[in-house]
Amino acid sequence: MPPGYLRCEYMTEPLGIDNTSPQLNWRLEPDKNMKQTAFRVLVATSPDKLGKHDGDLWDSGKVASNDETGIVYAGKPLASGTPCYWKVMSWDRNGQPSQWSRPASWTMGLLRPEDWESLWIGFDRPRAVAEQGAQKRPLLPAPRYLRKEFKLAKPVKRAMLYASALGNYEMHINGNRVGKDYFTPGWTDYNKRVYYNAYDVTGMVKQGDNAIGSLLADGWYSGYIGFGNRRDHYGKNPRLRARLLVAHDNGSTTVIPTDRTWKASTGPILEGDFLMGETYDARLEMPGWDAPGFDAVFPWSSVNITSNISAVVQAYPSGTVKIFREIEPLSVTEPEPGNFVFDMGSNFAGFARLKVQAKRGTRITLHFGERLKPDGTVYTTNLRGARATDTYVCKGDGPEIWEPRFTFHGFQYVGITGHPGVPGKDAATGIELSSATPAAGKFECSNRMLNQLYRNICQTQRANFIDIPTDCPQRDERLGWTGDAQAYVRTACCNMDVQSFFRKWLVDLEDAQFANGDMPQVAPRKVAEGSGGAAWADAGVICPWSIYEIYGDKTVLERHYDAMAKFVDFRANNSPGFLAPKKFHCFGDWLNIKADTPKDLIRTAYTAGSARIMSRAAAVLGKKSDAAKYHKLYQNIKKAFKKAYVDKEGKIKGDTQTAYLLALEFDLVDGEMRKKAEQHLIERIKERHWHLSTGFVGTRDLMHVLTKIGRIDVAYRLLFTVTYPSWLFPVKNGATSIWERWDSWTPEGGFQDSGMNSFSHYAYGAVGQWMFENIGGINSASPGFRKIIIKPAITRKLTWARTSYDCIHGKITVGWKLDGNKVTLDVEIPPNATASIHVPGEDKAVEVASGKYTFESET
Ligand code: BGC
Repeated sequence: MPPGYLRCEYMTEPLGIDNTSPQLNWRLEPDKNMKQTAFRVLVATSPDKLGKHDGDLWDSGKVASNDETGIVYAGKPLASGTPCYWKVMSWDRNGQPSQWSRPASWTMGLLRPEDWESLWIGFDRPRAVAEQGAQKRPLLPAPRYLRKEFKLAKPVKRAMLYASALGNYEMHINGNRVGKDYFTPGWTDYNKRVYYNAYDVTGMVKQGDNAIGSLLADGWYSGYIGFGNRRDHYGKNPRLRARLLVAHDNGSTTVIPTDRTWKASTGPILEGDFLMGETYDARLEMPGWDAPGFDAVFPWSSVNITSNISAVVQAYPSGTVKIFREIEPLSVTEPEPGNFVFDMGSNFAGFARLKVQAKRGTRITLHFGERLKPDGTVYTTNLRGARATDTYVCKGDGPEIWEPRFTFHGFQYVGITGHPGVPGKDAATGIELSSATPAAGKFECSNRMLNQLYRNICQTQRANFIDIPTDCPQRDERLGWTGDAQAYVRTACCNMDVQSFFRKWLVDLEDAQFANGDMPQVAPRKVAEGSGGAAWADAGVICPWSIYEIYGDKTVLERHYDAMAKFVDFRANNSPGFLAPKKFHCFGDWLNIKADTPKDLIRTAYTAGSARIMSRAAAVLGKKSDAAKYHKLYQNIKKAFKKAYVDKEGKIKGDTQTAYLLALEFDLVDGEMRKKAEQHLIERIKERHWHLSTGFVGTRDLMHVLTKIGRIDVAYRLLFTVTYPSWLFPVKNGATSIWERWDSWTPEGGFQDSGMNSFSHYAYGAVGQWMFENIGGINSASPGFRKIIIKPAITRKLTWARTSYDCIHGKITVGWKLDGNKVTLDVEIPPNATASIHVPGEDKAVEVASGKYTFESET
């Protein structure tokens, strides 16, 4: 059986690869006892050559290795735009070769700055003019239209389009949109770095007359982001840079770059902004603006050019934002005359597609919210400064269908006003957006509420993984909060393949690092500009380490090692006596329940944790003296922690659940003191009548620590609690997503303070990892799941559970059923991995290689 799932740089068939030594990956076909002992990779310049087994770019020869991930291309130098076709075969543990895999490909991007030959163009007029036709010029960000017509004298063999923008672009060729991506080229620190996307547009251009165009919106570059009601964070006027490269049959090429010959205009999209929404006047449509033959009829303006853009331009390193699914509304109500409320059934991020038939000039508005007010209208107060309203003005010639392009909202409900008559359910379709992160995990068990909790976690992850990991998708915030990301990263990995997603964001995070080594509150660093402080800034160490541990690829540590070290050194140098200094920043155990944990303790504990990770990372990279240095730092902080915060009774300063959790998670107490700390932790839970009191910081560790100290009974008790505060309290109250606060809404009190109350915040969803590891029993014992531990914690509160996880080597599945005292356990271990399976009720673990196994035992 041949290997499958061939990927380059952790992407399937990528078109713009910058790394001239890209990493190749594949998966072995699942089979019993499957282990690779050798491989051979062929990379060719054409499918033809590859078919003839001619690796004219690289023939690795037979390489003795059991690695099937992170194989570094080591063939001939790769030039800009080179398509590379490749295949792989592997040898199993008996030395038997597989067949060749099916061919896969990747294409090199534009490697040298001079490959671009394109100018950064835009259209700055809309901000200066006060009037647009008869209508007052909107004050909000307005997308521009850019275009150019061109002739191709010869037939087209291959056409590639490269596009980048300071802002967001949407390219069009000959009347059609290019690709299915949203918000390209993504959010970066545009002063330092901007990405481009590559598209194969061979089928879109032709010999003869052609037209290329682009919509260009302000996006994160000059639109509204975060709180504070401010735009223009990176610049005032968005810019587009594109390059169409057409190869002809005779070997010649034609290049169409963005340059002075492009023309610009405004158009029907009057406003397009993430936070504010989009406004579209269909009466201003310009049919054919993106097709040839338009120039003559509408003379557009010349473009504005910026020549001194210093940001490095690189290939987008991950999956773009795409449509995840379409959602039919459950119901339409009319809580007040003319205000029709569509219920999409669950809280997600995206927009609504409008379908309407109305008189010319009819103005229809769509407003979005996560919840309803008691009177049945849409609750929008918690959106703060985000207007989150789309407007469509009808052109009036039959049914009209419209979707916004440059905005998204976090919502379950859409309120539509201005609609003539009563709309049918088909007037609004929910369109869910998310960064393309392939599904990796599945969880299902005999308890409906837990299944709903799991769905809520995944849904909230999708809603907040929009180019970067954000805190929330609805209010005027939507920032890459570091604390939220570090608390959640492990759970994110359980649910979806987020390797390239995080690799992208880790670059954003490093770009946001302060000169002194400190790490920020948010990345990209805008709006919330200060130091992240304890448990937030530590994301700079925790996140790369987590991605390394889950996917087993050291290059992520190599890439970020210096930044990680700089951060830990910064912390060390600002910790007099290995404790917190007098002045420092810390958000504390954010949103805990009347159980504030002293901030100096949080800072000290997290600094210990980061030093410990640092010593491990140094060891992985073979940096022995660094490993020793950071280990010593960890030991010193631990000593100081014990002395400063732990009393003779094992009580820890603050005496909160979180204080004990941190000490136990980071192993800052030992022996007798540890035993006592464990007891105090249980006491603190018991005195809350077996409820948690933890905020973002404590919740991350709560369930793991209880498991680690042998009190999984307490962990299960907390998990199944439905009264406030608990994970199932929102579920019981109809939640379809994870709430920011344990009491974002209660039957008695209604909505929490609207100043900060999101219904789509993944931080508390961090319990998902615990569910995978304990109900599912899926654990990694070595980086990248090369060695797996299967250890489900059977509970009588469930009769069965089934969990699966696509690790880098393939699928791990664990299913168990409880029938009286009898347990049936089904396990699947992927190729190239081994596992210790702890069969419930048995003392000794069973060691196995890949394959499917069933065990029966008694508990
Ligand atoms: C965000 C959080 C974030 C916090 C910092 C909030 O406004 O929504 O999730 O971590 O600020 O305390």
